[in-house]
Amino acid sequence: MAGSDDTRAAPARSVAVVGAGVSGLAAAYRLRKSGVNVTVFEAGDRAGGKIRSNSEGGFLWDEGANTMTESELEVSRLIDDLGLQDRQQYPNSQHKRYIVKDGAPVLIPSDPISLIKSSVLSTKSKFALFLEPFIYKKTSTRNSGIVSDEHLSESVGSFFERHFGQEVVDYLIDPFVAGTSGGDPESLSIRHAFPALWNLEKKYGSVIAGAILSKLTAKRDPVKKTSDSSGKRRNRRVSFSFLGGMQSLIDALHNEVGDGNVKLSTEVLSLACSVDGVPASGGWSISIDSKNTGSKEFGKKQAFDAVIMTAPLSNVQKMKFMKGGAPFVLDFLPKVDYLPLSLMVTAYKKEDVKRPLEGFGVLIPYKEQQKHGLKTLGTLFSSMMFPDRAPSDQFLYTTFIGGSHNRDLAGAPTTILKQLVTSDLRKLLGVEGQPTFVKHVYWRNAFPLYGRDYNSVLEAIEKMEKNLPGFFYAGNNKDGLAVGSVIASGSKAADLAISYLESRTKHDSSH
Ligand SMILES: Cc1cc2nc3c(=O)[nH]c(=O)nc-3n(C[C@H](O)[C@H](O)[C@H](O)COP(=O)(O)OP(=O)(O)OC[C@H]3O[C@@H](n4cnc5c(N)ncnc54)[C@H](O)[C@@H]3O)c2cc1C
Repeated sequence: MAGSDDTRAAPARSVAVVGAGVSGLAAAYRLRKSGVNVTVFEAGDRAGGKIRSNSEGGFLWDEGANTMTESELEVSRLIDDLGLQDRQQYPNSQHKRYIVKDGAPVLIPSDPISLIKSSVLSTKSKFALFLEPFIYKKTSTRNSGIVSDEHLSESVGSFFERHFGQEVVDYLIDPFVAGTSGGDPESLSIRHAFPALWNLEKKYGSVIAGAILSKLTAKRDPVKKTSDSSGKRRNRRVSFSFLGGMQSLIDALHNEVGDGNVKLSTEVLSLACSVDGVPASGGWSISIDSKNTGSKEFGKKQAFDAVIMTAPLSNVQKMKFMKGGAPFVLDFLPKVDYLPLSLMVTAYKKEDVKRPLEGFGVLIPYKEQQKHGLKTLGTLFSSMMFPDRAPSDQFLYTTFIGGSHNRDLAGAPTTILKQLVTSDLRKLLGVEGQPTFVKHVYWRNAFPLYGRDYNSVLEAIEKMEKNLPGFFYAGNNKDGLAVGSVIASGSKAADLAISYLESRTKHDSSH
């Protein structure tokens, strides 16, 4: 324990993790595996943050993230370590994804041949796609390594418009970014929302040629291969969930971290850091407000050697920080813009859905919303993907409303949203009558917007980490929104904390 007066052996170090979302739990899991004492503080009454599954009346649905990918090596390792491989659940026909064009769902082409045949894009846009590798050659000035300020803050829309034209932005990029981040192409920064593509352009000029070349290089590089413990290759692009929903991942992590180490209904209010970390005091003192009746920790200050913060920055801004007895004011931390989103789960009798579609789901470009009076961002075909999530005579759908184009609508009452969802599903899938089942979840701060000035946010995080010894920040306000990215973010923060603790131990034993 921190503060132990046993001087014969090096004392076990302790780390506080703030937030029991998937990034905080992934960090805590990694720390525990390395023999570090860990306490996770979670303001809410459950672990999981933006991951939450629920069930009722034979239906099972996710209220936050619905699927994830093994985009990062850390994800595959974690799934193996937790023994979750057998519980991974892959959606049926997951490559069948639809986009609305001229008011009706059209299959998104998944390869060059189907792109040529597809009606999603005009002939002009198809040419633009095929010509991009020849137009954006490696000799472009953007590849000199010098990137101008204008390009550092370039929007997603401008980047894709330069490479592929406006129709690609309107019909492929806009619905994709709305569906994955609630954002819109003009507000989002290409550098922060799609860092891999931004880097491809810097390196290769052409995004398409760059993607092909880097894939070939990765194939040749054994280190970059994503393979499981048996050496079997794993597809990093395939989406999946778990039997029992995404909650199964959270429950497995929670279980491994240990129930007693995760303090639910416990809000961190203030954090104080002694300047260079006096070993006996642990270096950090954290004060909490626990709504857990009977909690022994109520109002108590607790000592730790390091802190991993995973709470959204809007919450961090409300916390009080002290350094060496003086206030450490976070006035340099810019205000982050969060996008609101409503998620509507609805079910219909199978005979009431006249044009059901097999596959993953349908996205509605903003242009089509305006032209055809559609109000929703898109719908996941939840029980088509996972038939065990609804009684066999019903279809279950998960529809999203809001995001940066429709902020006000996100907060509309359930009755209004039910009408809008029913109306859109009537137009797209031929749904008749009213849903047999409705659940509404409103996320006021669903996603941080990685806007064009997001660099100032990342710089402020860096400043906190630099000025507060033993403080590490992780989660979706920093390293990407996808579940895989935040797992990697939490794991990376844990590794940094472990290195910090090791350097402290060496420092202490040499004095
Ligand atoms: C509706 C929706 C759908 C999504 N769909 C997908 C998807 O299909 N695929 C995908 O990859 N991603 C998806 N995402 C994104 C993904 O779910 C999130 O980016 C990710 O789960 C965020 O994890 P996190 O740990 O960084 O943050 P969070 O989950 O936000 O966790 C932060 C935690 O900190 C806690 N906290 C805050 N303040 C304090 C305090 N003072 N003291 C203690 N605790 C505090 C909060 O209560 C919260 O539990 C979706 C997100 C939403 C909202």
